[in-house]
Amino acid sequence: VNVLFASTIEPAERWLPLLERALPQDRFLQEPRGDVEVALVGIPPPGTFARLPKLKLVQSLWMGVEKLLADPELPRGVPLARMVDPGMVAAMSETVLAHVLDWHRHFWLYRQWQREKQWKHRRQFMALDRTVGILGLGELGSDAAKKFLALGFKVCGWSRRPKAMPGVHCSTDLDEVLSRSDAVVCLLPLTAQTKGILNKAALAKMRKSGCVINVARGAHLVLNDLLAALDSGHLAHAYLDVFDEEPLPADSPLWAHAGVTITPHVAALTEPRTALPRIVENVERVRRGETPLNLVDREAGY
Ligand code: NAP
Repeated sequence: VNVLFASTIEPAERWLPLLERALPQDRFLQEPRGDVEVALVGIPPPGTFARLPKLKLVQSLWMGVEKLLADPELPRGVPLARMVDPGMVAAMSETVLAHVLDWHRHFWLYRQWQREKQWKHRRQFMALDRTVGILGLGELGSDAAKKFLALGFKVCGWSRRPKAMPGVHCSTDLDEVLSRSDAVVCLLPLTAQTKGILNKAALAKMRKSGCVINVARGAHLVLNDLLAALDSGHLAHAYLDVFDEEPLPADSPLWAHAGVTITPHVAALTEPRTALPRIVENVERVRRGETPLNLVDREAGY
């Protein structure tokens, strides 16, 4: 199989030696050619797809594919697979657990009080006093849900289609999930239906003094509505990893807001060591003429 590696963001030197070792009978290329059957893409350079007439699979190196789906050059008739990388799933759960614990144990506030040299106490809560609401119970949300349960939190989750997970209150009713939640973790794909989902009305439904964690995409959250909810005291804190404009502009009011913790889109990164077997499996499937794994439903947008 001829495989093109085409990403303007992922460094080829990080991936190609691993790929060549794992699939020694295949040929890995960095320039488009007429006989390429599989394209491994982050954001491919413009004009890439037009030069791949024999393409059988577009394999994304990332879990979120909204940018690829919006690319008018993406060939419509070729299957698109997204990356489902166990290393990235584990990293995301670590990130959202760290944020929820930071809020739950009031560390965000103790950091502020340390800067002010204040020796003050906040009341202690137990994990069972808190409900974590997870928006999106897919690969990422379901792993995080299990880990929150293991720590003793109550967990509820929102998905498009009805779902059952032991110990998790699963619902397709967003208002119900929000109104139960102290902490809301956004792990949704960005689609026409989920854009702006965390807006004024949604935040108002959350329980008071909670936190919002957005590690999905910046456009899920309406920033002015978030700032209003923080400034009114309805929300205690927000943990933001993703933004409409990245890097976050220097003049954004978020940088200096005491109620906001910012990370630079690092909640979970693709980990080549654990992603590689997933790529190998899909290249083998193309070789055998079988359906690749983790195909994107273009109609649903994820
Ligand atoms: P996934 O497996 O496709 O799961 C998506 C979940 O969202 C599913 O449970 C789905 O419901 C639910 N959903 C989608 N549209 C919905 C709607 N309109 N209403 C209610 N629920 C809806 O996705 P994933 O692998 O967990 O990844 C989620 C997103 O995380 C990615 O798309 C990406 O944007 C983001 N991400 C961010 C980072 C970072 O570093 N910040 C890293 C990786 C991924 P169903 O179960 O009914 O389909």
